[in-house]
Amino acid sequence: MNRWTTAATTVLGLGVLWYAVWTLTGFGSIAVGYLVMPVMMLIAGLSVRSMRRSVGLAPAGRRFWLMIEVTCHLFGMGYAIMVPAAFRTAPELPAVPVVTAVVVGAAVLVAMWGVSQVPLGVTTRAERGKQWLDRVIAFLGCSAVLWHFGVAPAIMAAEPWSTAALVITVMVCVFAAGAVTKVSYIAGGPVDRTAMRLVAATGLSAAALVLLSIYGGPHGAMIGQVLGMPSSGLLITLAAARQRAAVDRRPRPGNVWLPYLAVAAVDLPVADVLIQSRYWAPGVWEGRVIVLAAVTVTGLVALRQYVVWRDNMALLRENRESEQRLRHEATHDPLTGLANRALFRQRLDAALADGPASVLLADLDEFKTVNDSLGHDAGDGLLVAFADVLRDAAGPGAEVARLAGDEFAVLLPGDVPGELVAERMAIATALPVSDQRLLVRFSAGLDTAPGGTPASRVLRRADAALYVAKERGGANLVRYADGMERPASAHARLGGDLRRALADGEFRLVYQPLVALTDGRIVGVEALVRWEHPERGMVSPADFIPAAERTGLIVPLGRWVLRETCRQAAAWIAEFGPDVLEKASPNVSVRQLHDPDFVADVAAALADSGLPADRLALELTESAVLRGHHVSRVLHEVHAMGVRLALDDFGTGESSLSLLRAFPAAIVKLDKSFVDNIEIDEPGTPEADARQAVARAVVQLARALSLDTVAEGIENQEQADRLIQLGYTVGQGYHLGRPMPPEQITALFAARRRVAAAA
Ligand code: C2E
Ligand code: CA
Ligand code: CA
Repeated sequence: MNRWTTAATTVLGLGVLWYAVWTLTGFGSIAVGYLVMPVMMLIAGLSVRSMRRSVGLAPAGRRFWLMIEVTCHLFGMGYAIMVPAAFRTAPELPAVPVVTAVVVGAAVLVAMWGVSQVPLGVTTRAERGKQWLDRVIAFLGCSAVLWHFGVAPAIMAAEPWSTAALVITVMVCVFAAGAVTKVSYIAGGPVDRTAMRLVAATGLSAAALVLLSIYGGPHGAMIGQVLGMPSSGLLITLAAARQRAAVDRRPRPGNVWLPYLAVAAVDLPVADVLIQSRYWAPGVWEGRVIVLAAVTVTGLVALRQYVVWRDNMALLRENRESEQRLRHEATHDPLTGLANRALFRQRLDAALADGPASVLLADLDEFKTVNDSLGHDAGDGLLVAFADVLRDAAGPGAEVARLAGDEFAVLLPGDVPGELVAERMAIATALPVSDQRLLVRFSAGLDTAPGGTPASRVLRRADAALYVAKERGGANLVRYADGMERPASAHARLGGDLRRALADGEFRLVYQPLVALTDGRIVGVEALVRWEHPERGMVSPADFIPAAERTGLIVPLGRWVLRETCRQAAAWIAEFGPDVLEKASPNVSVRQLHDPDFVADVAAALADSGLPADRLALELTESAVLRGHHVSRVLHEVHAMGVRLALDDFGTGESSLSLLRAFPAAIVKLDKSFVDNIEIDEPGTPEADARQAVARAVVQLARALSLDTVAEGIENQEQADRLIQLGYTVGQGYHLGRPMPPEQITALFAARRRVAAAA
């Protein structure tokens, strides 16, 4: 309560007190009651003025309150003029002086003008039209009630009212009706909605006065003077206080039920007319029936409209709810219920705008293995369990999100130490989690940034740190340090470049011959990919295959290699006959084996090219083959199609020998490291024996298991000779043939055909 409302309440209270004393004891003059109104209006006017000066109002709001202030002062003046008249006529009630009627009439006009100028915030033409219709209905309904119960009785009163009093009554009634209908449509804006309602209520308080004067006799008029009219002053001080405290509220839809209420309201006077038979000639009962029917119909129509309105509201509510649901779905991960990447970015932006914040990125180690070996349900269970671990460890105030696959993020606003959270996570994951009782291991990258840092930079740094953590073997936390970012962003650039290169067709295949060591005949080719970079020239696979594997681009790239190899091999067979080569060998990365379409891709490459399945040999490394049940199933399916599998770089892994039992290999490729220096020293010396041990063991094992062998990286004839001695029949290396474009291989095949034809 501010001082204006206190003052208004006090004056009103004093007025009531005086009235009580006066009626009970007859002490003092009736004219004292006429003092309340001018004082109240003065207080109201001043409260509006003070509010106008201290609150930054929009122009429309300023104008409105100025009008209200003027209204208050005019009202005050009009009633002040009545005070001397009252003292003169006391104890009789004074007649309303003409000046008062004029001034008060002007005041009501100003108020009406002020109210009518308040914008409703409605924009479309259709809306405006509808609103006008509603308002006319409401206005007429309201007016009908006021007319029937207020104006008409005043005009027809046994003791006729003075014209001045009648004018005031009519005007106040019109203002009341206009203000009430208007106010119901204020959706918010320059004038506070509640303040506006309070102002409109003054019209009703005036109308109440009129009713009191009519039905309450002299006491009614007095109560009206002391309580009825002055209470409008209190309402205005309250409205001003309300406007002072108003915050920008969201506009709400205006009242929709008012017209229906108006329809129902009209029935009140009609019903009253019906009851008061004095308006009806006795015996004219049909009139009553018609009126009864009209009242019933309008009442029912209003009821029906109300039902429709309620249904609409329910629909709107449903709409709002589904909108909320959609918004939630758009910003959350359905599996774990965590925020998604978009929402996380938003929250991170907001946190960094406020001050420092840390981002902890966590990525499960070996998640793929769980998914592949135990199935997707187990994988999902693990993700959900890990999400719970994160939520608990992050604590309140933190935002936890699932960014992608098995990558999670925690946003820690302020200076919560991220290490602590990681520690809590490590403790929580020390024991098996999820329904499957799985042991989960994760790597984490952490970065803390001062307020104002771009979110993208913090994320990039945490990601770089995570990358380092992964490189270090996983299951650890790395905080970002200068310099970590560079390699990661270089990879990112390379990744983007690769994508473009694949789309632009910048990749080529070269083919390296696999040669029979004894007679030098080409028995097969290995397909090796090259990148013809527009600026960098030929890029070796060692430089981009790792990046392609990390970004997953190896899947489409490998698919292309596979198809192109099949196409080329089939073309050679078509040109030179089925014996031109025994096998064409593309390299296959482990990432490709995890691709759900891999088996179908192989089948399609064969079918589309027409290459017989047994002419295709896929080169896989040991580490690729040792990747769980899923990979093993894929390899058996490919094997069942008749495609051969070659174990590349054989002998370098840890479990080469045991692998041969579990895996349907047809070919082993002895790694170059066992061929290097194999020719040095005479055979039989201990050093040479040691150097040859692996090469010898591999060829013996292969023979025992009926596998073909290929010795890789032969760079001179001595090596070839030594390998022949050991039992190798097929070799590959710069000495036997470098990787070359397909045209050169074609030329070699053509030369061979010429020689054969000549022989
Ligand atoms: P890899 O499968 O072991 O291929 C043999 C590599 O040794 C090739 O290198 C080949 O040019 C090289 N080489 C052959 N003979 C000799 C020799 O006598 N001496 C020496 N020093 N090197 C020899 P390249 O073409 O640079 O390929 C490197 C690796 O890149 C390949 O090793 C393979 O793992 C990978 N790669 C190549 N093409 C593809 C592909 O299309 N897909 C996949 N996933 N990986 C590929
Ligand atoms: Ca290879
Ligand atoms: Ca190799």
